Amino acid sequence: MTFAGGMMIATSVPALAVTATDVEHRASVYAPAEDSLSLAAPQPGIHVASEAELAPHADEGYAVEAAPPPIVSQVAGLGSVAVIESDLIVWPVINPENRASGFGPREAPCSGCSTYHDGVDFNPGNGTPVMSIADGVVVLATENGGGLGVNVEVQHNIGGELITSSYAHMQYGSLAVTEGQHVSAGQQLGLVGSTGQSTGPHLHLEMFGVDGVRFDGFAWLSARVG
Ligand SMILES: [Zn+2]
Repeated sequence: MTFAGGMMIATSVPALAVTATDVEHRASVYAPAEDSLSLAAPQPGIHVASEAELAPHADEGYAVEAAPPPIVSQVAGLGSVAVIESDLIVWPVINPENRASGFGPREAPCSGCSTYHDGVDFNPGNGTPVMSIADGVVVLATENGGGLGVNVEVQHNIGGELITSSYAHMQYGSLAVTEGQHVSAGQQLGLVGSTGQSTGPHLHLEMFGVDGVRFDGFAWLSARVG
């Protein structure tokens, strides 16, 4: 009896190891453009009187640096949004090593699925909290994200660069933020689900800069999470 029970457990494991992934989806609802980004002008009050005055500080240059200006981004429906620089970077889910599908070319996981994956699929489990990867401003929070299902986009200022993170397929009714809201690194945005074009509960994370071109969010995060 004991042996038979053990066999049943062993043979049932592969059925649970479903590869959760998603299919083709649309671009961001707003189109980041080069001319939508404007950096604040340098502070006119900062002026170095002479080289002689600067010399004593030559080997401690950080002492004269002002706080970095926010990036002012134009967002459809929100207008001008000031995005303050963020230093802390965190994973969007617990157990980020559990992933189904990485970024880039892949075998289509279903008929109609894309052969190029423009995000990273995390499998932390259905209902797991999804968190913002850095401080930022929520520029999209919708339950009608098409193929992306329940979707949140957050804009971040990382070292003076405008970076957007997009969190897809979350559960209906789980949105914890609204458009225009400022969020902190690690703040909950929603819960892992399978809304939109998805074959099972997972987080599909897309990341892109002002050109809208998606890049490998897992590699980017791996290099920056402390
Ligand atoms: Zn995906």
